[in-house]
Amino acid sequence: MRKIVIAGNWKMYKTQSEAKAFFAEFPAQLNATAKAASVTNQQILICVPFTDLAISQVVASSVTSPSIHIGAQNLHWTDCGAFTGEIAAPMLVELGIKFAIVGHSERRQFFGETDETVNKRLKAAQKHGITPILCVGESKQQRDANETEAWIFSQLEYGLKEVDQQNLIIAYEPIWAIGTGDTCETAEANRVIRLIRSKLSNPDVTIQYGGSVKPENIDEIMAQPEIDGVLVGGASLDATGFARIVNYQS
Ligand code: 13P
Repeated sequence: MRKIVIAGNWKMYKTQSEAKAFFAEFPAQLNATAKAASVTNQQILICVPFTDLAISQVVASSVTSPSIHIGAQNLHWTDCGAFTGEIAAPMLVELGIKFAIVGHSERRQFFGETDETVNKRLKAAQKHGITPILCVGESKQQRDANETEAWIFSQLEYGLKEVDQQNLIIAYEPIWAIGTGDTCETAEANRVIRLIRSKLSNPDVTIQYGGSVKPENIDEIMAQPEIDGVLVGGASLDATGFARIVNYQS
């Protein structure tokens, strides 16, 4: 059975004190908007900046109903070394971190991430028992040129080389829908996610949608049969709004 994963990506937002303030409010907001029946196969995850990992992990692990998982936004492919500015999997493991985003389009666009480095980071995460969230998605230009499928298939082919599909989440994030308020039509996101699934050897991989997800559109997104969760940027920064997203109405 495919797991539903509702994840936040805080990107480069929130100092430690801001993270603490979020977690002081979030559990109460979760309960306030909770569904009548609890969903047993749903996970809540928030991927925070490196400086917020330790405090967030401590605070989140004290919340048990429902559990809140904390994830990183990147990790390096070696266990340690002279790689200024990077973070290694064992550093995350020691904090109890079990998830990490890999290959976000902002890393590919601004920090030279390639399918090859994405592939190495995915394997490093899995080697240490961390579930990576592989991000794929096309630009506006690629979509307009009818290159969406070919581009995503090549991201999957090279990114997933020798990657274990038993311990993997994929996020379909069309670049043109990120931070723009311009959500991908839900039926179209569903179609692309079905195509992504057709390329996988494990049909049970959780595949999320990401790009301008908000409390106002979450119910419609989650009603799509192929969409197993969301990766939320801006709207995950607000405890009330993100709680409403987690407690989408299905
Ligand atoms: P927004 O939700 O702000 O569009 O960001 C999406 C994203 O990039 C999540 O990783």
